[in-house]
Amino acid sequence: MHPSLLTADARVASSRLDPETALELFSDDSPARLFELRRLANAARVARHGLRASFVDNLQINPSNVCVRDCQFCGFAAKPGEAHAYVQTEEEIFSAVDAHAPREVHIVGGLNHEWGYRRSLALVAALRERYPALYIKAFTAVEMHWFARTAKLTLEAVLTAMRAAGMNGMPGGGAEMFSERIRQAHFRYKLGADDWLDVHERAHRLGVPSNATMLFGFGESLEERLHHLFRLRDLQDRTGGFVSFIPLAMQYGKDSTRAISPYENLQVIAMSRLVLDNIPHIKAYWPMIGLQTAAAGLSWGADDLDGTIGMEKVAHGSGAPTPKLMAREEMRRLIELAGFEAVERGGDYQPLAGQTR
Ligand code: SF4
Repeated sequence: MHPSLLTADARVASSRLDPETALELFSDDSPARLFELRRLANAARVARHGLRASFVDNLQINPSNVCVRDCQFCGFAAKPGEAHAYVQTEEEIFSAVDAHAPREVHIVGGLNHEWGYRRSLALVAALRERYPALYIKAFTAVEMHWFARTAKLTLEAVLTAMRAAGMNGMPGGGAEMFSERIRQAHFRYKLGADDWLDVHERAHRLGVPSNATMLFGFGESLEERLHHLFRLRDLQDRTGGFVSFIPLAMQYGKDSTRAISPYENLQVIAMSRLVLDNIPHIKAYWPMIGLQTAAAGLSWGADDLDGTIGMEKVAHGSGAPTPKLMAREEMRRLIELAGFEAVERGGDYQPLAGQTR
């Protein structure tokens, strides 16, 4: 083993990974180093979760893709009047929930005045009333921040009202890459790192759990990726409110010359597991990295495959070539083929009755 890895191995085993060691550990992407990374990340994953790998029967709800922003990387959003612009009605959303009967819904959409704060809040309340057992994961920090600003309310007021209406937790989208350099180049009008973290900190302090993400593949440096992960780790040290972290690979559609390789995806999963030692769950998000890479990710630090998804629109809007939904049995089979024990869970990560975790 490379001498610096021996040192890093000892440091990972005995204490937390610090930024310097992390940089040393991840800056070499030779096959030998990647193999050792896998071993370290898998050891950390097995120590926490054994060989169990979870998934949830869930449904993504994207009420509208019309958005006032135009982040350069986004293939989902549309301007009013564009051919692919759509706005769903409440009845369409209820029909989708009735048809899929999921355990969890994941609600995110464009920043569309037609689906502003009051209508979005009413949607959460209506879903809670119609489906009392449903886990409602609703609205990213970007949306919550926009709701507060456009409704002239404090963030606390918005978050408290959403929780009272029936929201159980928040998704982790919209974090993108915390580097200000990258933000200026790719999504300069979107919430910055400080504000994104602030929304989540306020949610955690109100008892609302959330997920966190990192969108990678902008051309950011390793230092910028690590900076993002360490900022999340610092917040988690203070609040403990993140349940799960999801590394999201940029989608380049048909431009295969820019596609992120399976190795790079696996390396980021391993990095996430090793740096984010205080976030319990690391997801291998199959709609963006592919089914085979996601299954492999289970032995590179991931312990969760997210879910059956229902009908994914955001990544597929940006050209993701994966299937748009996975049946529960297929999900289970994929996990078992990868050598893990499949555990179907609820939105709160608790295993369903009769399954162990
Ligand atoms: S990434 Fe989100 S905020 Fe940006 S354009 Fe797309 S939907 Fe709108």
